[in-house]
Amino acid sequence: MEIDLCQIYTCPRCRMETPHYLQVRREERVAISCSRCQTTSLLEAAELENHQAWWEAELEQILSGLEENGRDDEH
Ligand SMILES: [Zn+2]
Repeated sequence: MEIDLCQIYTCPRCRMETPHYLQVRREERVAISCSRCQTTSLLEAAELENHQAWWEAELEQILSGLEENGRDDEH
């Protein structure tokens, strides 16, 4: 299980995907804080990993969509 210093997560305050910095990791729990508004979120490491995997897949889709200079709508 690897956790980088910077993780993409949904900030409850910004209401969007933002880079988060890992603050504390204790067993299965991690505390991350938004790099934009500094809001700290507490969650499970596995949850963060799942989100990261989801985000990378999403990013791939967005990038492939950008080939035509058009963006995929999330909803
Ligand atoms: Zn934020």
